[in-house]
Amino acid sequence: MKMDRHTTATLLETAAKSLLSNELAAIHALGEIPRDLFVPLFNAAFLGGHKKILKAIVGVWPFRCLHIGRLNAQEKYYDNLEAMVDGLQILPAQKSSSRGPKLRILDLRHDPDCETTCSEIRTTFPFCFQSCIYSQDSILKTEEAKHRVRCLGIGNSESQPQSAQEPMELLVDISLNSVMRTQRFHSFLCRKVQQSCGSLHLCCRDLQINKMSALRRILQFLDLGCIDHLEVNQAYLSEVITLLAQMIHLNSLSLSNVPFKTYRRRNFRSFLIWLRRLDNLQELSLSFFCLTDQLHKLLRVLPGQLDTLYLSFCGLSLRDFTVLSQSSQATHLRVLNLSNNQIPEVSEPFQILLEKVSGTLQHLEINNCVITDSILSAVLPALSHCSHLRVLSFAFNPITMSVLQSLLQHLTTLTNLKHVIYPVPVHCYDEWNFQDSLDRQKLAEVQAQLKVMLQVVHRDDMNWTTCSE
Ligand SMILES: [Zn+2]
Ligand SMILES: [Zn+2]
Repeated sequence: MKMDRHTTATLLETAAKSLLSNELAAIHALGEIPRDLFVPLFNAAFLGGHKKILKAIVGVWPFRCLHIGRLNAQEKYYDNLEAMVDGLQILPAQKSSSRGPKLRILDLRHDPDCETTCSEIRTTFPFCFQSCIYSQDSILKTEEAKHRVRCLGIGNSESQPQSAQEPMELLVDISLNSVMRTQRFHSFLCRKVQQSCGSLHLCCRDLQINKMSALRRILQFLDLGCIDHLEVNQAYLSEVITLLAQMIHLNSLSLSNVPFKTYRRRNFRSFLIWLRRLDNLQELSLSFFCLTDQLHKLLRVLPGQLDTLYLSFCGLSLRDFTVLSQSSQATHLRVLNLSNNQIPEVSEPFQILLEKVSGTLQHLEINNCVITDSILSAVLPALSHCSHLRVLSFAFNPITMSVLQSLLQHLTTLTNLKHVIYPVPVHCYDEWNFQDSLDRQKLAEVQAQLKVMLQVVHRDDMNWTTCSE
């Protein structure tokens, strides 16, 4: 009988599940079972929270890398991760298995697009798509160094104790917060790195810090040069600068709630100096970050090819809108969020800005910007040139029904535009923008009218909603 791949996969899953029903037998069988059974067995053990089996599986994993990828186990999550890290053969003495551990990269990051193990096309490094390329402690750099030593003929391998253990990488996303379980997990990771005597590289690319005061001992165990995404909420600017100075490979930087009184002139200047060094920066998000009349300084140091710019609650002035409209970044942005800043009554800078970004812009958010009928009417031609636009959100602005209808007529020509979040027109409120004074009946009529208009122009694929829906 010939089996197709699907049937084989189902059979392997069934075999894995039946193995799990007896933990001891399963652990015992790990030395004998075929390689093909490891991935389904690992998936089932992870989802079922079988910690002992997980630890044992990692110990004899027959591939070079192991990614948890799309697996998610809710409340057992940290227990699972700890069991897996425990299974890593970081001490030479633990090398006892007959099969011999092959695992070099353990990836504990949740990633729905990542396979459990990378296909082994290459036999040499890099054998894993996720391996670290920056740190001196990475497998890549360690092996390069070893290779150089060998080529130069310095010493011999027997006299070098550090080569007794092959370098390994542990990939984790780290979120510094006040949750006890998270902190316990971090302490556990620190202990493991210490025990490894330098053979385990703890590689974090995504770091979230919620309040700098949160336990941050783990930062000492990280090479901050590996980080490409940094998110900081509630910190002093001087603390942010200290971090940035070491994070030269950042792709995405998000800062929120940096208190204004902490940006003394010297601090702000250093912030700009470090920002200028971030050549790979694609995304910048600043919120509750006072930039009034300062935006030109920021734009001067940002890469011209910036992809995403979020400036919510930044107190932008007419001058700031003007420099943004004249900046080199304006012709490249794909995502722009200017919500919670007052768009100037003199709408020309905003209009020019929209014309400049019209060739690239896909996502625009201008919620709560005090956009009036006259501003919206003035920028409408420029807005309807944004042919790549997919998402437009401009909720909480004082717009009347007639201008909203005119906007809809213009925007339905944008074929890529699928999602519009529009403001509830002013006539639906007794007192504008007071949620309690919203007349739901009037809003329902507005929704019905817009729906009919969309049907008439055959744009049922467009989704127009308000924030109150
Ligand atoms: Zn891999
Ligand atoms: Zn790294």
